[in-house]
Amino acid sequence: MKNITQQLADEAATQQLGRQLSSCLAAGVTLHLRGDLGAGKTTLVRAMLQGLGYAGKVKSPTYTLVESYVVSPLYLYHFDFYRFLDPEEWIEAGLRDYFNAQSVCLVEWPEKAGDLLPAPDLTIHLHIEQNSRRAEITAHTARSESSLHAAKIF
Ligand code: ADP
Ligand code: MG
Repeated sequence: MKNITQQLADEAATQQLGRQLSSCLAAGVTLHLRGDLGAGKTTLVRAMLQGLGYAGKVKSPTYTLVESYVVSPLYLYHFDFYRFLDPEEWIEAGLRDYFNAQSVCLVEWPEKAGDLLPAPDLTIHLHIEQNSRRAEITAHTARSESSLHAAKIF
């Protein structure tokens, strides 16, 4: 496991990190996005999708739980579990099958889904500072560590 902290001075810096992270997304990768409301989790996902060449609208899945994207050759699923009151709700909602070896899963509020959620390859924890953000970037697997190196994030 490797971990670094990066200062994000403004929204453009968050977007830059998102574009860099897009090269780390491959089939089977799960990315957890932690941090309070307004920390920049959705902003990061939007920039990742743009970095992959997706030109459409990226809506927050706050109400829909999941938004799906096909950005050839990737199948991406963007989740937001903020509204869950019970950690089993994502299973009851039928979301378990989205986490498979063919998909890329980007999860906001993974802590609301409890222990049954598959372990992430990568975690980005965004901390709110007065007019900026601090990103704590953790690679949990050797594969994600080398992809972060290749993306010049580590
Ligand atoms: P979340 O999904 O974590 O609730 P959003 O991405 O919806 O957060 O909103 C993040 C907000 O913070 C946006 O208003 C965005 O402009 C702003 N923001 C993003 N990155 C930064 C940054 N590095 N510094 C200051 N503001 C930022
Ligand atoms: Mg969000």
